Amino acid sequence: MSKPSILSPFGAVKFLFKKPKTLRYPFEAKEPAQRYRGIHLNDWEKCTGCGNCADICPNEAIKMVEISDVESKPGSRNLRPQIDYGRCCFCGLCVDICPAGSLRLSRDYFHIHFDKKTFVLTPRDEKTDTEHFFGDGEYSIFKASLAHRKLNYEGFVSESNFTLFDPDRIEMPEVEPEKRKLSFIEEVLGYSREEAIREASRCLGCKLCEDACPAHLKISDYVEAIYEDKPEESLRKIYEDNPIPAICGRICMKHCEDACSLSIRGEPLAVRWLKRYAADTVMDYKKALEIEPPSRPNGKRVAVIGAGPGGLSLAYFLILKGYEVTVFDSLPGGGGMLRVGPPLYRLPIEAIDRDVNYIASLGVEFRFETTVGKDVRFEELLERYDAVYLGIGMTVSRSTRVKNYEKAIQALPFLRENKIGSGMEVGRNVIVIGGGNVAMDVARVAVRRQSMRYSDSECVTKTVSLEDWDEMPASA
Ligand code: SF4
Ligand code: SF4
Repeated sequence: MSKPSILSPFGAVKFLFKKPKTLRYPFEAKEPAQRYRGIHLNDWEKCTGCGNCADICPNEAIKMVEISDVESKPGSRNLRPQIDYGRCCFCGLCVDICPAGSLRLSRDYFHIHFDKKTFVLTPRDEKTDTEHFFGDGEYSIFKASLAHRKLNYEGFVSESNFTLFDPDRIEMPEVEPEKRKLSFIEEVLGYSREEAIREASRCLGCKLCEDACPAHLKISDYVEAIYEDKPEESLRKIYEDNPIPAICGRICMKHCEDACSLSIRGEPLAVRWLKRYAADTVMDYKKALEIEPPSRPNGKRVAVIGAGPGGLSLAYFLILKGYEVTVFDSLPGGGGMLRVGPPLYRLPIEAIDRDVNYIASLGVEFRFETTVGKDVRFEELLERYDAVYLGIGMTVSRSTRVKNYEKAIQALPFLRENKIGSGMEVGRNVIVIGGGNVAMDVARVAVRRQSMRYSDSECVTKTVSLEDWDEMPASA
C-alpha cells in the first residue's frame, strides 16, 4: 500500500470543473415517473362524497369534511375527502376504490411550508380550482406549497380494468322471450344463493343509496347479511322500514340503484333483486322475523281505507304499536292498484299475498270486497274508530282527450281484466300511446295476448310517445 501524499486532498479541486453527479436542488428538480404517487387531485364535480376512500385508507389519513358550497342531493353528498399527509403513505388504495374515478394522485411531491397545519389538505384539481394551479411558466418549486400546484400533472390514476370494485352485475336469469310471450308466468327467475352472494359482494357499503330510497331502508345492512349468507337477518333488516319486500323486491322504482356509487363507472348493485331474494328465500316469516305486537293493546282503533302499499305499511307499523287496525278494500285481496295494474309476469298475486298474509298474521283485520260509501258508511267509520286513514290510490286511467279518444281502450281496465279478470283479447294491430311503465305494461300484455291467439307474422304492436328512447320514463 502506497503512502498517502500530503497533496492528495487537493485532488478534489479537479471536481470543481466537472459536471455534478447530483441535482442542484432546489434549482433543479427530478422529473418523477409517469405513474408517480404524489399529492392528491380530486375532481369535485365527479366526487360524490361516498367516503369509500376514507373507509379503505389503512392509515386513517382521510376524513370526510362537509363543504358548504357543494349541494347534497340523491346520489351525492356535500362531503369531500381531506387528507392528512402526516399519515398518508401514498399507497393509492383510495384511488383504486374511488367509484367516481374523481380521486387521482399527481406527480407533484413538493410541500414547502412553515405551517404544519397545511399538511392537512382537501384536494381539488384544476377543473374546479382555477386559482391555485399554474402552468410551467408560472410554477416554481420555491413557491410550491399545498396552495400552489402544477397544471396537468397527473400521476397515478385508477383504470376501469383494475379497480377495487366489481363494475359488472351478476346477470338475472329470465324466461326466454320466445317462451314468455306465450304466457303470463313471472319472467324474472330470481337469483340462486350463489348468485345473490356474489352480487351482494359488490356492495361498497357507502350508503349513498339509502339517502335516495324514499323509505330510507338500511340497504347496505341487508345486502351485507345476504353476503354473509343470512337471508333471515336480511329480511329482519328490511322489515325495520318496509313490510312489503316481496312486492318491492319486484316492482320498486329503485331510486337506490340510480344513486348507487357503482353505477358511475359500472352497473349499479341489483338492490331490488337482492331484496326479492331475501323475501323469496325465507319460507317461514313468523319464525324468521320474531315480531309480535305488544301483548297489551293500547285500546285505540284505526280504520285504514285502501290496502295498497301505503295502507299496508301503516297497518303494519300501527299494529306493532298496539293499535287495533282494520283495513277496508273493494278488491278481493290486498295490494291496491298493485293487485290490478302491474301484470302477472312482473308481479304475481302470490307475491302480493305473501306480504299481505304476514301483516294479517300479526292481527290486522282485512275486510276485502268492501267498498266504503257503499257497503259501509264513511260516517260509521268516523264514529267507531279513533282515526281513519285514506289510502285510496289512483284508480282512474289518464287519457289524451284527443278526438275519438273514447274509442281507445283505457290502460287500467285493460290491465285489470288481464290480471284478475277473465282476460281481454286484442286485435292483430295494436298501437299504445305513452312511454311510461303503464304503457310498456299494456304493450307487453298486448304482445302476449296476440302471440297466444295469432301466428307471429300476422301481428304488430307499436308504441308511440313524445319522448325519445333515452328520455322515455319507463324503467326496466
Ligand atoms: S371515493 Fe371518490 S367519490 Fe367517494 S368520496 Fe372519495 S374521492 Fe369522492
Ligand atoms: S348499494 Fe351502491 S350506493 Fe348502496 S351501499 Fe352498496 S355500493 Fe353504496
